[in-house]
Amino acid sequence: MQLFKRVDQLQSFLNAERVNNRSVGFIPTMGALHAGHLSLVKRSLSENQITVASIFVNPTQFNETSDLDRYPRTPGKDLQKLAKVGCNVAFLPEVEDMYPPGHNTELKIDLSGLDARMEGAQRPGHFDGVAQVVKRFLDIVQPENLYMGQKDYQQQLIVKQMIRVLDLPYRVVTVQTAREEDGLAMSSRNVLLDTEARQKAAILYQTLQEAKKRLIKGELPKDIETWAMKAMTQPGFRPEYFSIVDGYSLQPLPDQEELAELVVACTAVWAGEVRLIDNLPLRGNM
Ligand code: AMP
Repeated sequence: MQLFKRVDQLQSFLNAERVNNRSVGFIPTMGALHAGHLSLVKRSLSENQITVASIFVNPTQFNETSDLDRYPRTPGKDLQKLAKVGCNVAFLPEVEDMYPPGHNTELKIDLSGLDARMEGAQRPGHFDGVAQVVKRFLDIVQPENLYMGQKDYQQQLIVKQMIRVLDLPYRVVTVQTAREEDGLAMSSRNVLLDTEARQKAAILYQTLQEAKKRLIKGELPKDIETWAMKAMTQPGFRPEYFSIVDGYSLQPLPDQEELAELVVACTAVWAGEVRLIDNLPLRGNM
């Protein structure tokens, strides 16, 4: 596996590869890699000749410095994991190289309101930071295929929207959520959970699954949301939102009309000091 820390070095390498018409798949990550990240890498390896994974804890998408400081960082182990699955290139840039002096950090993209609710409402400016870093990475790597996790449902939709609005020539592949045995979605933040919170954390997935059953039985989305918020309010657990939305527009579902073609439930829950998110399509396929 090749390791690059500088933008110009990565670009020289990729330019040479492109002469041979090799297709490039790209997976942006913030490191502390787990099997979920590696499933994106494996998917890319199966569809491209060169797979590039980046590890960069992007400061512009954190709204709280304490969250940024606490974010787990395990670069040595990450590189071993990437090499083991056969990733071709690891890219670990420095902040100064990603955002050099004079670089326009004010990229404003019309996200059609996709950033207004849920994660966008709870974390002001978060998706501007995500859009900015993904755009910068795409400019650098120029992959044929970009791999994003369904785990961050709103994020993958926003990245797709950005690519559409800016008319960029990249295909986005959304890879389904990898879960622990008890159903907890794999996340770099899971290592921050204490033993008790970890044991209870499967409640997110259990509630999502129960919500699906209730929707199929004909229960109204808003009643299911109310039930879910109550079900997840437990000692040490504080749900922030449980929203059943149209899977394309992220708008709430009108109760009286036909259900949207794709219905997704998205949730964020505080487990002690750790914020967990998860989602599940309740109706239709992504
Ligand atoms: P992160 O390092 O959290 O920024 O995640 C990097 C990429 O991996 C994002 O596209 C995430 O959606 C994706 N990802 C994170 N966790 C999972 C998971 N459990 N299953 C599938 N993809 C994931």
